Amino acid sequence: MTTPVAAYAAPAAKAPLERTTIERREVGAYDVLIDIKFAGICHSDIHQVREGWGEAIFPMVPGHEIAGIVTEVGSAVTGFKAGDRVGVGCMVDSCRECENCKAGQEQYCVQGNVPTYNGVGRDGEPTYGGYSQKIVVDENYVVRIPDGLPLDTAAPLLCAGITLYSPLKRFGAGPGRKVAIVGLGGLGHMGVKIAHALGAEVTVLSQSLRKKDDGLKLGADHYYATSDPKTFEELAGTFDLIVSTVSAPLDLGAYLSLLKTHGTLANVGAPEEPVSLNLFSVIGGGKSLAGSMIGGIAETQEMLDFCAAHGIGAEIELIAASEINEAYERVLASDVRYRFVIDAATI
Ligand SMILES: [Zn+2]
Ligand SMILES: [Zn+2]
Repeated sequence: MTTPVAAYAAPAAKAPLERTTIERREVGAYDVLIDIKFAGICHSDIHQVREGWGEAIFPMVPGHEIAGIVTEVGSAVTGFKAGDRVGVGCMVDSCRECENCKAGQEQYCVQGNVPTYNGVGRDGEPTYGGYSQKIVVDENYVVRIPDGLPLDTAAPLLCAGITLYSPLKRFGAGPGRKVAIVGLGGLGHMGVKIAHALGAEVTVLSQSLRKKDDGLKLGADHYYATSDPKTFEELAGTFDLIVSTVSAPLDLGAYLSLLKTHGTLANVGAPEEPVSLNLFSVIGGGKSLAGSMIGGIAETQEMLDFCAAHGIGAEIELIAASEINEAYERVLASDVRYRFVIDAATI
């Protein structure tokens, strides 16, 4: 038997979100029922509600930065019990049998992971995300939020946090390494905090110096405006790693020129249009152009434990559910410092 749950949904592409009721599946043997406390607003929620990344499923309940409390567990659940503080990120299932799933890289499941919303579950039903009061998720796709992390500032770690943690770890951000974060928004501000906590020397490359004071407070050692052509002359050949969080088209050649020999430019922001590149900018200097998408479940847990140990949460603006549409406009205008989080009690 399904359970009706209050939620905010977009009834059609580009339509404003409105309060509605969705049905959550019965708590199965391996499922955890979570009372959602907070849900972050990710830029990708807006891309998907507006079909910027292609055809989507409506009604859509976005939200893949979920923090809450377990209220019930299925008979076969071993990892969680009622009262546990937990999170759910961008996926709620995967095939569990392919090479990537077995390696803890469920986000790259060869059959495709099941996204937390705007997807179809293995039961054939559409998935609905975190802008709702409750969610039922298989325990293998639920992570533990350590006691030291408040649930509201932890919610954005489930997408923004892991999206930056994974490439920073994979490409060796740490002591003695120079790391640049391109863009100081919801993703970028997490990148600065995490790269700093990993021990790297951190530079923010932002369009203007408007957020410089914030960037330095968040842990950046240096801050440059990319609108100033002198930045690219001054920083040529400087970085071991650049992580780009921007979803606007970038002049990749210009950013590659800022890397040292064998440096890596990793992209986590996704422009809607293809970009072009003169390959001499990677051939000279033996550079790498890379991409990264969220992280696996075990790595997401590792990231939460790391953030708890270093006292890292997101910088948030807590809003009521009735303010979601206004918040979307502000995200599009880059007018948020640095993540909107919905108080699920207001849904
Ligand atoms: Zn996201
Ligand atoms: Zn798989």
